[in-house]
Amino acid sequence: MQKSKIHFYGGAGYVTGANFVLELEDKKIMLDCGLIQGGRFASDLNRRDFEYDPSEIDYLFISHAHMDHIGRVPKLVKDGFKGKIFSTHATLSLVPYMFEDALKIMRSEAQKEGKEPFYDMEDVQKALSLWQGLDYYENLQIDDLSVELKNAGHILGSAMIFLNRGDRRFVYTGDLGNAPEPLLPDADKIEDANYMIIESVYGDRLHEEREQRVEILKRVLLEAHRKSKTVLIPTFSLERTQILLLEMNNLIESRQVPHTKVYLDSPLASKLTEVFRQYTHLFRKEVREQIAKGDDIFSFPDFVEISNPKDSFKILKENGAKVILAGSGMSTGGRVLLHEKALLEDKNAIILFVGYQGVGTIGRKIQEGNKKILIDDQWVRVRAKKVSISGFSAHADRDMLLKAIESTADTLDELYIALGETRSSLFLAQRAHDYLDVPVHVPQNGEVREIDF
Ligand SMILES: [Zn+2]
Repeated sequence: MQKSKIHFYGGAGYVTGANFVLELEDKKIMLDCGLIQGGRFASDLNRRDFEYDPSEIDYLFISHAHMDHIGRVPKLVKDGFKGKIFSTHATLSLVPYMFEDALKIMRSEAQKEGKEPFYDMEDVQKALSLWQGLDYYENLQIDDLSVELKNAGHILGSAMIFLNRGDRRFVYTGDLGNAPEPLLPDADKIEDANYMIIESVYGDRLHEEREQRVEILKRVLLEAHRKSKTVLIPTFSLERTQILLLEMNNLIESRQVPHTKVYLDSPLASKLTEVFRQYTHLFRKEVREQIAKGDDIFSFPDFVEISNPKDSFKILKENGAKVILAGSGMSTGGRVLLHEKALLEDKNAIILFVGYQGVGTIGRKIQEGNKKILIDDQWVRVRAKKVSISGFSAHADRDMLLKAIESTADTLDELYIALGETRSSLFLAQRAHDYLDVPVHVPQNGEVREIDF
């Protein structure tokens, strides 16, 4: 048995900034290289040097296309990484749009604050030239190491990374989905892992509203229709938008909700939806059957995608019931801000939150009931009705995480609980230890552990 090491460089004690390195005697394998989120995009935390020499990393495996898992990859390449990058094909199809959008955000930050983006398009291109797509369950052999990507059920293309060496197995879960996810199959079962890094965003909480999520959406749409209201949904472009389109498609085409104008005012979400259309074979069975019967699940009568920014203003002037989906999901930027400036003061508008709103964001301030909100140097009074649906979360909750641990509890030499706030990770660790008798460790950023792998 050889002594290897696992380094926790990012995402230990934190939800974002996933960055782990498995050090074997002859190679270094990185798992995710994510952005630290919460403040500015190009914050000092993200532009700072890596704690290691990027040129010494041989392979990088990416779990999924969320920024907090891929956001620093172009910087890694800029700073000397020359190895190979692997992810699922779907993830590889999504990342160029995510990086393009990231650069746009960084450039607008740079205009306001004078700090240049910490990578540019050239670095993105270089990263993509090193990047190779894999199918789920395809076996990738690197010397004595075999690697397999399994479905994590979190977003399109999301993968758990299984590393096998001899009879030993190391698993990195990435982010795990909130099963049953409307579009994707449930995550694969994890078995025979000797070591595992598991996420813990909701390590201390249960998703109580899951069953009601479509019911609440339906109620809001019916109210809008009855009273000719405008519904504004700040939405995340990747996965959440596509799930909402699917749910609205189902409600409207089954006539549970009358035809209502629905606008998607997010160029990024429109582009990503096109990628989803290329990967329908990865959807769950019920959805594949629905598509096979001829339904375009991301489109329905009176659904319109806005591409020209001038049309964003036009739709606001339209009379009658309508729904506007616009990014960003926490109102930290994007076209949702111009809609909020126009609609928050309107007593006849409904603002519908479908995701977690980070502390300090405009979305959080509205949700918490502030009467006046500052948007782009303009004070806006809040008179619109507020509705929140928490059940659309893309993450597994406490009991789902425990179930994932339980399926491999008897073979674990050590379980690492990461990608959560410390409180949440510690809670899950306690449960795993007390209920499942698993040797568990909650690492902190900068920590390194020796492993028999
Ligand atoms: Zn994620």
